[in-house]
Amino acid sequence: MEPNPNDEKTLKELFQQADKLGNRRYHRLTQQDFDDYRKFDYWRYFNGRGECGTTLESKAWVNDHSDRHCPLCEQLFSQHGGKSIDHKLPRSQYPWLSMEFENLWVICRDCNIEKAEMHWYRYEQHVLLTYPDRYENARHARPIALLRSLANALINKSET
Ligand SMILES: [Zn+2]
Repeated sequence: MEPNPNDEKTLKELFQQADKLGNRRYHRLTQQDFDDYRKFDYWRYFNGRGECGTTLESKAWVNDHSDRHCPLCEQLFSQHGGKSIDHKLPRSQYPWLSMEFENLWVICRDCNIEKAEMHWYRYEQHVLLTYPDRYENARHARPIALLRSLANALINKSET
């Protein structure tokens, strides 16, 4: 059988590979990784009223990467706790991707709280089962380039 890049099995393998690299990489965190991890906390600084992106830099980024509606639930940000910067691949599992902008998106706080620390693959399944009408939105946001680069790094062992 010809391998089909759009095949769900292939996709699942891609997620598994990215996950595997994630686990390996996690045990080799560098000082830079820790610095980036901390830098994000400063960068996304919360002003305490549910709004994020209050340093000048992050404010500009949030404005450039959002409009008035959450890209996931399509509700107004203002009615769902405001904007929040989420890591598509959770920071707890991929701390070195804390400041990787391909890994960031702006979603409403309610969606962010629900997503929590779910791995992206699990999260898509969760959305599919819980909110089938939002599934296309989640799929559209899938960090596919990032997952591919993680999977490639595993194959090439360039992350040693
Ligand atoms: Zn939302």
